[in-house]
Amino acid sequence: MKSKIPTPAQEPFARKVISLWPALKGSLAQVRKPCIRPRCRACARGDNHPAYLLSFTKRGRRRCMYVPRRLVRLIKRAVKNGRRIEELLYQIGPALIRDHRKSRAAMKTSKESLTSTKSGTIKKNTKTES
Ligand SMILES: [Zn+2]
Repeated sequence: MKSKIPTPAQEPFARKVISLWPALKGSLAQVRKPCIRPRCRACARGDNHPAYLLSFTKRGRRRCMYVPRRLVRLIKRAVKNGRRIEELLYQIGPALIRDHRKSRAAMKTSKESLTSTKSGTIKKNTKTES
């Protein structure tokens, strides 16, 4: 029988991800763009008007979209949350490997103690993994 590889606990991770909603991947930049009004003083001065631009990648291509003013706060929060979720994802790999090592080490030691009691001899070659 094949021994199943245990998947890591899903619930704590899922709970964190849900608490980090809304999330997105991209970056927000403030730019200044001219408006369409014919005699705008700000545009005449060259100040233009502040606007937010969201850059993201779609199928490897860099894209950007203007963010409506009402969505700026939401998008800012979503960008931050996206980074935190990404950090979480980076932690999963090492955590999986560490857990696997630990469980292997635990199995080894339990097997060794079994064999030593059966044979009656005590082996002193227990490896200690760091
Ligand atoms: Zn203007």
